[in-house]
Amino acid sequence: MGYTVAIVGRPNVGKSTLFNRLLEQRKAIVDDTSGVTRDRQYGVTDWNGKVFNVIDTGGFVPDSDDIFETEIRKQVRIAMDEADALVFMADAATGITDLDTSMADLLRRTDKPVFLTVNKVDNNARLLDASEFYVMGFENIFFISSISGSGTGELLDAIAAGI
Ligand code: GDP
Ligand code: MG
Repeated sequence: MGYTVAIVGRPNVGKSTLFNRLLEQRKAIVDDTSGVTRDRQYGVTDWNGKVFNVIDTGGFVPDSDDIFETEIRKQVRIAMDEADALVFMADAATGITDLDTSMADLLRRTDKPVFLTVNKVDNNARLLDASEFYVMGFENIFFISSISGSGTGELLDAIAAGI
């Protein structure tokens, strides 16, 4: 199947926006409502001559906080299983949440590369806010804006370097 990168993270952080940007076509459904992407989306992209598959995760409808958390943990486990590298996306506009912390705990258990990607860093004030994410202790950390594309080149360089 080739090298596969999965984008994981809690709802609304901007996973589908990045996915769409990487595919340069609107395959995933992006919406302001949490959890709108119903299914996992698969696509193929390339960077610096390296071709790889991208998975956009997030298809679930939460009934309660417990199910919500369980479902997200399931998504992360599947992604850790089937992908060669993980883009762990968080949101500079909201900062670190309990769900981010719980996902980080899961992701620290894999030997596969994890790229902590703090999204919605649209301006310098957000960049200052986003520095709190260093506390999570991931070696690879990127600050991006999926909407403008800023920072995505550095992220893709790092992903491609591992292929
Ligand atoms: P997902 O649930 O993680 O797939 O998140 P979506 O891609 O559906 O995005 C959720 C919301 O965040 C949408 O309203 C997006 O337009 C918005 N969003 C995504 N990326 C950015 C960004 O870089 N900056 C800002 N300000 N908003 C963003
Ligand atoms: Mg989505």
